[in-house]
Amino acid sequence: MTHCPACERLRAPAADPLFIAELRQSIAMLHEHQAYPGWCVLFVKDHAEHLHELDPQVRADLMLDVADAAAALNRAFAPRRINYECLGNQLAHIHWHVIPRYQPPLDPDPRSVVWVRDGAQLHCGSTQAERLQAIRALRAAGLVGQA
Ligand SMILES: [Zn+2]
Repeated sequence: MTHCPACERLRAPAADPLFIAELRQSIAMLHEHQAYPGWCVLFVKDHAEHLHELDPQVRADLMLDVADAAAALNRAFAPRRINYECLGNQLAHIHWHVIPRYQPPLDPDPRSVVWVRDGAQLHCGSTQAERLQAIRALRAAGLVGQA
């Protein structure tokens, strides 16, 4: 395995300012950019690059984690829809984006995937205080450790 930025980040996940919770098979982090308030990313705990290569039980538990994150997101932010994306094009380590979608103007193109937006829009600024508030809201809505 070549150097993996996700594995490096997951060495001490609780020390990460975007850490939300350690779940069954994943670490839930808030996405650093909050163009879509509540956007989470779940990283599988042990390095793997393809869903089909995971042990079936690990894969099943990972999907429970993703669903739990979506449920908490729904309770905390009441989005119009939730998008689930496992891409791997830029970061091979399996990670699921759980992206809340809203009505315009907050979500200017709710019928398209978020990636069609200009990078500068996706990477909108959010303060650490705003990110911490979102993390607390997701924890209060049930996104807490399973261990
Ligand atoms: Zn990795």
